[in-house]
Amino acid sequence: MTHNPLLSRDARHLALDAVGAEGQAGIAAGSVLLIGVGGIGCAAAQYLVAAGVGRVAMTDFDTVDATNLGRQVLYGDADVGKSKVAVAAERLAALNSENNVVAIDKRLSGDALDAAVSDVDIVLDGSDNFATRFAVNDACVRAGKRLVSGAAIRMEGQLCVFGPDYSTSPCYRCLYTEADETLESCAGNGVLGPVPGVIGTLMAVEALKTFAGLDVATGRLRLYDAVRTEFQSLNIRKRDNCSECQ
Ligand SMILES: [Zn+2]
Repeated sequence: MTHNPLLSRDARHLALDAVGAEGQAGIAAGSVLLIGVGGIGCAAAQYLVAAGVGRVAMTDFDTVDATNLGRQVLYGDADVGKSKVAVAAERLAALNSENNVVAIDKRLSGDALDAAVSDVDIVLDGSDNFATRFAVNDACVRAGKRLVSGAAIRMEGQLCVFGPDYSTSPCYRCLYTEADETLESCAGNGVLGPVPGVIGTLMAVEALKTFAGLDVATGRLRLYDAVRTEFQSLNIRKRDNCSECQ
């Protein structure tokens, strides 16, 4: 590791007007809780760790399956059957030895989820089911934390940023209700390998912008159409009878 910051891993951020020394200090002081280390989480985690985010905690209770390997790029053939967060933590430590990666090898819920959310600045949700997404949303609203939410299936992805001020920002429950329950799965519908990577990378961008003190538009739903290579952006209204963010 060199002592000249202009020759360090931070060099290109330091040279960027939008980040600079102050923004990079914000990134280095930042902490993230990443929910799920699948296709989205693998991409997000690599960029967060490479960029020198101070602490990246990752939670996933799953083991690596051969069907994951086409898109979950922190895992290789030899990792099948191993804990995802354990393998991911090892790979990420090799990317940046100074980064503080915390592997949480379980499904967080209840008080443990609240404690993990309260312990970080931003939550990135790349999980694959509504039950987790609602629980993570509710914990973020309770703790007043920014939530960056991403999803991908087939050749489509979506991205939303919520909070941290939920008196003005809508929440995930303003967008989806329990009635939408059946979140489609990649297993049943397929997914083009890099599409979750695009969404995870966009989530890392929003997290780094937050840490660097840049403006982040909240309450907007960004839809990525990989067939046409187009983005669509829609406003999410606060739901009048939302059970969480009123
Ligand atoms: Zn809401």
